[in-house]
Amino acid sequence: MKLLVTGGAGYVGSVNAARLLEAGHEVVVLDDLSTGHADAVPHGARFVEGDAGDAGSLLAEGFDGVLHFAAKSLVGESMENPAKYWHGNVGTALNLLDAMRDNGTPRLVFSSTAATYGEPEEVPIKESAPTWPTNTYGASKLAIDLAITSYAAAHGLAAVSLRYFNVAGAYMNYGERHTVETHLIPIVLQVALGQREQVQMYGDDWPTEDGTCIRDYVHVVDLADAHQLALQHAEPGTHRIYNLGSGSGFSVKQVIDTCRQVTGHAIPATVAPRRAGDPAVLVASSERAQEELGWKPQRTDLASIVSDAWEFARKH
Ligand code: UDP
Repeated sequence: MKLLVTGGAGYVGSVNAARLLEAGHEVVVLDDLSTGHADAVPHGARFVEGDAGDAGSLLAEGFDGVLHFAAKSLVGESMENPAKYWHGNVGTALNLLDAMRDNGTPRLVFSSTAATYGEPEEVPIKESAPTWPTNTYGASKLAIDLAITSYAAAHGLAAVSLRYFNVAGAYMNYGERHTVETHLIPIVLQVALGQREQVQMYGDDWPTEDGTCIRDYVHVVDLADAHQLALQHAEPGTHRIYNLGSGSGFSVKQVIDTCRQVTGHAIPATVAPRRAGDPAVLVASSERAQEELGWKPQRTDLASIVSDAWEFARKH
């Protein structure tokens, strides 16, 4: 297939672009480099620098599908500057959907998020769970999911939204390197590399066994496999939504301990106040993805996920 990968210079987008190329697809990366890196665009992909909301002229070439990764994704920033998320995420996605409709682009795989659910009533979280996002980032992704549903129904788009839990790990030269790092595993590895003095644990009085928040860490390569399955299974006029996680939760303390084991560094950790908008426990039920897409995460062991992230962090 000829595929447009928006955000293909970012972490999840670049790993996906690399895996799509390996699977024999033709890949065009569209990225405005606001948070991505030009040198993260895999060799073999054509790179176009630009906004995903201006994809019309590119799509006029004729594409079999779009994988839409380009987005603003910092929870804290989304609360301080909501316009950046409503215009930057929702506005851009609507422009992209219009361009796909106008050019007859048949398939869309969209990067959605567990943040669409907010504080869960039941864990593990199924796709049928209520969606009450606790932050603007999650709300913007939910708004896009809703728009995709109506575009699919009205215009025959074959669409799949994948709701990621905590993506981690790396693949070859492609990994996480945000200018402003907010994610737990890369921050802990920065401490191991001597780039930070310590990691702050946001709260140790959560209603969990060790008092720290629990998250479901999914390997970025497993995630990329799910995107390829989604492309294969997408049906015209239908929008399917799938949660993607490994199905087991690890606490912040467990993650830090695993990073200590993998890196051999002491990694000092202190307790800091809770972070606004953080749910106590987020663990996915990925049963639907397993049953309908045939997805089976292969790299669910936290130590191997951290090892891959560590190998990448040391090189970059
Ligand atoms: N976290 C932490 N210290 C940090 C960064 C994150 O204690 O420096 C916690 C955060 O509160 C959450 C978990 O680690 O419970 C995962 O956070 P991350 O930002 O990696 O992903 P999120 O769950 O927000 O998508």
